[in-house]
Amino acid sequence: MKKEIKRMVKCDVCKNMIEIDQYGNGECQNCGWLQSEESYQHPNIPGIRNIPSLNNAIKQYNNGESATLANFNDFIETYNNYGEVEFTLNNIRYGILYDDVTNKIELLNIKTNEKQLFNSIDDFILNAQINGMLLKDIWGNVTNTDFLQDT
Ligand SMILES: [Zn+2]
Repeated sequence: MKKEIKRMVKCDVCKNMIEIDQYGNGECQNCGWLQSEESYQHPNIPGIRNIPSLNNAIKQYNNGESATLANFNDFIETYNNYGEVEFTLNNIRYGILYDDVTNKIELLNIKTNEKQLFNSIDDFILNAQINGMLLKDIWGNVTNTDFLQDT
């Protein structure tokens, strides 16, 4: 077996020392940031290994907030650029995905399989609701954002 080459670098967000592999990938045990050469090169682009952009992650961390939780704009931009994303609200996971059959954007409650359909991402931004409240207005209660994991 080939020996893996590991080295220690400073986390791009919190400056904690983290171990990275030969591809420059590693996870910060302090702030949870997934180290990425690509996001370092493009610090304003969200959705590169982490959902928040590097610059927003740094801002959030310095404000005492989570480095890995995306604000609404970063979350939407990640959907636009990369497709399937998910968030957790009130301990329920919701997926956002594109339905090729209906050509609509689907907001999926992963627990109940309930779906809401939207004609466009703008329609989603303006009208997506959970429990009668606009998602954009209650985004501050979201506890996790990620690329869509297995449903
Ligand atoms: Zn860190």
